Amino acid sequence: MWTASSCYYLAYAPTSRAKCVGHVPTLRATKIAKGELRLGSSNSLIPHSPNKPLTSWKHWTCVSSETISSMRLQYGDITTIPGYATLTPDDKERVRVTWNEAGVYRGTTEDSEEQPIV
Ligand SMILES: [Zn+2]
Repeated sequence: MWTASSCYYLAYAPTSRAKCVGHVPTLRATKIAKGELRLGSSNSLIPHSPNKPLTSWKHWTCVSSETISSMRLQYGDITTIPGYATLTPDDKERVRVTWNEAGVYRGTTEDSEEQPIV
C-alpha cells in the first residue's frame, strides 16, 4: 500500500517572512526570524493551492515528537535528513539531542529537572 510521503528538511530561514505552523491554532502564528533553524515539511499528497505554500515551516523548537518519530521512520539516521550537513556544529548537536529525546518532555531549562532516562 502506498503511504503518505512527507519530505522534511532542515534549513536556516533566509528571511523572516515564513510563519511557524507549530503553534496551537489559538495563538497567532509566529514568524520565524531570519537565520533561525527551522524544519521544512512538504506533503506530496496535499494538492498545491495557490494560497498556501507547498512547504510549511516550524521552528526546530516547535517540532513535535510525532514529527520526529515520523522523520525517524523515514530517514532512520539523523545524518540523512536533507540539510543536516549544512548546519553548524552547535545546531547539529541541538538537532541530535531532540532526535534522541523525541517523546521526552522538553521543558524550559529554568524549571526542568534532570531526570535519568531509564
Ligand atoms: Zn514556532
